[in-house]
Amino acid sequence: MSPIPPHFRIAEKIARVGRSRGLFNHSILIHGPTGAGQREVALRFGQSVFCETGDGPFGACGECRNCRRVPQGLHPDFIWIEPSREKGLPNISIDTLREQLQDRLVLQPFEGDKVVGCVYEAEMMKPEAAGAMLKYMEEPPPHAVFIFVTENRERILPTIRSRCLPVPILSPAEETIEAGLVEGKGLSRAEARQAGLWAANEGLLPEAALSEGVAQVREESVRLLDLAVREGEYAFIPQVKALKYDWETTARFVRHWRDLLRDCLLLAEGRAEPQTHLSETKTLKRWATAFSTEDLAELIDRGFEYEEGILGYANRPNCLATFLSEVSARSRASRG
Ligand SMILES: [Zn+2]
Repeated sequence: MSPIPPHFRIAEKIARVGRSRGLFNHSILIHGPTGAGQREVALRFGQSVFCETGDGPFGACGECRNCRRVPQGLHPDFIWIEPSREKGLPNISIDTLREQLQDRLVLQPFEGDKVVGCVYEAEMMKPEAAGAMLKYMEEPPPHAVFIFVTENRERILPTIRSRCLPVPILSPAEETIEAGLVEGKGLSRAEARQAGLWAANEGLLPEAALSEGVAQVREESVRLLDLAVREGEYAFIPQVKALKYDWETTARFVRHWRDLLRDCLLLAEGRAEPQTHLSETKTLKRWATAFSTEDLAELIDRGFEYEEGILGYANRPNCLATFLSEVSARSRASRG
């Protein structure tokens, strides 16, 4: 495969870190604008799961037998599902999912310890197919990894979306967008780059990522997490209980915390800059000293669980408060 284009950089990092930290125990949602290279990124993730060495970009060498078989469609444990275009509108039916995936989820992998089901253009799943998919995801066999690929994240069932680690592919025209923000909005280069990363991460246009409401939630999430890291429950609980947010915003808090903790983990592991929250580098570096890397990895996992469980909380502030309490309990700083 060709060299890594710059707009794959976030996806590349996630695959590489994921390979070494067992993130492939989660489902993955690869999303990006039309023509950005979703297919290539999905295949590279597939290679990352199966590569014999794990060395190289995306955590795959690109040369071993497994790496060669994945893009050729010849790896028996890599199931590629895409919309049928035979009649009517392209769609993925429940029958297709059953035929191609169901048996493979029940049976053991042919070769290694994973079976990857990759659903390309996942927004084309018919409602019954999406419902069946959700069932598979609710009680996945330990060897199953699901990868969804879409150019329209909003059209993926929210209950599927919330179970996935988002893997953004930036727009290939990102440089143009950044230049537009510099000239049109008078932002500095660094600010424009940050806006582009936030936008990609949250599946928004850069203008929307900078809008007051979205920015406010992002800033609140940093402030509350900082209270949890530095202080203790007495500091953040009254503030969290006072929040009056809808389900979507509550989920956004959890996602931000998970992403901030992931950035923190990257810094703790010696990377020079965070993946998404560049403007918080100083704070993230300070947090990185407050946790062991094991605790950070564990908290990121817990973030996924909270995001999944969030619908089950009748009381949304309680959900946020208990997540922060876990953060606080693991922080050396708050333990004094
Ligand atoms: Zn390989």
